[in-house]
Amino acid sequence: MANRIYNFSAGPCTLPLEALEKAQAEFVDYQGAGMSIIEMSHRGKHYDAVHHEAIASVRSLLTVPDNFDILLLQGGATLQFAMLPMNLIAQGMTAEYVLTGSWSKKAIADAKKVGDIRVIWSGEKDNFTRMPKQDEFQVGSDAAYVHICSNETIGGIEFQTLPDTGNVPLVADMSSHIMSRPVDFSKVGMIYAGAQKNLGPAGAALIIIRKDLLDRCREDLPSYMSYKTHAPKDSMYNTPPVFAVYMLKLTLDWVASIGGLAEVERRAIQRSDLLYNTIAESNGWYRSPVEKETRSRMNVCFRLPSEDLEKQFIGEALAAGMSNLKGHRSVGGCRASMYNAMPIEGAEKLAQFMLDFKNKHA
Ligand SMILES: *Cc1c(COP(=O)(O)O)cnc(C)c1O
Repeated sequence: MANRIYNFSAGPCTLPLEALEKAQAEFVDYQGAGMSIIEMSHRGKHYDAVHHEAIASVRSLLTVPDNFDILLLQGGATLQFAMLPMNLIAQGMTAEYVLTGSWSKKAIADAKKVGDIRVIWSGEKDNFTRMPKQDEFQVGSDAAYVHICSNETIGGIEFQTLPDTGNVPLVADMSSHIMSRPVDFSKVGMIYAGAQKNLGPAGAALIIIRKDLLDRCREDLPSYMSYKTHAPKDSMYNTPPVFAVYMLKLTLDWVASIGGLAEVERRAIQRSDLLYNTIAESNGWYRSPVEKETRSRMNVCFRLPSEDLEKQFIGEALAAGMSNLKGHRSVGGCRASMYNAMPIEGAEKLAQFMLDFKNKHA
């Protein structure tokens, strides 16, 4: 195996080696077609099978109920920041947003340009170090929807259970923890995620929307911007992001092969426990900036006693075969992003490195 290092990048990020190797093996001549999957018509039998198997995998791995449609669109999660309010804030309606960090802030900024919104909870005064509890915000019964970012990738905080928004549809940006834990679809109107963290490469976004919400979508949107265009066409209204969907399918094949959602969740708990326990056992030398109950399994943020030590830590870790441990520039510190494809051995190696580094410098 050639030079694979432990890549702790927040996204795009490490993907299962099995998926990469499968793609490599069949890239030039896809199943005897004499051409690559990215050279053939998306209406042909080869891609058609890939596309529908990808959607079927999402449905079976996440146990998506029949009253939800599964879409694979372009534009990443970011397009959903605009597409969601365009579709679902009807004339005279207001949507509600929970502000928990950088990504929900971006969603709010775009939604404001499109329709009426109100922010019903903000973690800004606590520097976005925790998710709200259920009783800390009030959902208006007349709201078009309530939007949350269920895992804030930059701050490293995660809802451990989805809030209950009653009859008002809950919409969640799950970009950085989708497919790492079960989704309680009884609480959800729509979820969405850019593919490039747990699902595959950049280039596709996954949208899972309750069918009755499609009836509430505005009618006067340009075709690509309307969920109602894509749902009845199985996301084949126009050319889908063929390569991204193909890699997503291979990534989900790998998830299924190791035991599905239960196993990826077990691994996520094991990896993040390794790091959080190392932090806890360091007697304050390493510090988690976020509240214990809402810290993320996917994005583990931590601080060292000084910025100089953090810089040295990141540099020495890279030399030891662990890359991208720098926190986001807006918050500083260190961050280990450990998505589904990060082997347990990667987290073990990092935990051991943290111990050794502390012993050298404390
Ligand atoms: C990465 C990320 C995004 C942005 O995704 P794009 O596909 O680049 O648009 C949005 N929300 C969250 C929570 C993310 O982690």
